[in-house]
Amino acid sequence: MPILAAILFLFALILLWLARQRQKAIGLPAGRIIYTDTRKWAPLEEPLYDPDLGLTGRPDYLVEDKGNVIPVEVKSARISAAPYDAHIYQLAAYCRLVQRHFGKRPHYGILHYANRTFAIDYTPQLEKALLELLDEVRIQDKRRETARSHDSAARCSRCGYRAICDQRLM
Ligand code: SF4
Repeated sequence: MPILAAILFLFALILLWLARQRQKAIGLPAGRIIYTDTRKWAPLEEPLYDPDLGLTGRPDYLVEDKGNVIPVEVKSARISAAPYDAHIYQLAAYCRLVQRHFGKRPHYGILHYANRTFAIDYTPQLEKALLELLDEVRIQDKRRETARSHDSAARCSRCGYRAICDQRLM
């Protein structure tokens, strides 16, 4: 449970950090502008949880579309062009959680900004990118857990792990 809590705590921050570093070249969907009836959006009371990934999250709303449950994430900011990568990843995580909870894969999710609303296709490529990102989050989390706790080069010089340790002091 502490590991899960750490992952959840770090998820948003690291997600933002990593997303900024990733290139558009990995093929995140740009999203298409849509018009949607916000009166049909239903708020979600409880967070969704995927025990396989140790992932939890609560989309702002869910909306039903032709028998599919679609997650909606609302951002108060205005957007000039395409959605931010970090927001796409966040929405992809919600798509994953919706699939796990309702047993049916949403074909897309909705990102609603103050001035525009985008439909983001939940493609296999986006899901793969999400899973890779989550792996990176766990690696970063692990690195934080195992951060060097001293400044002694002498101690590193005697350490049996120095050959493979990326934090060794020479
Ligand atoms: S080499 Fe790495 S593991 Fe070994 S003492 Fe130094 S920091 Fe710690």
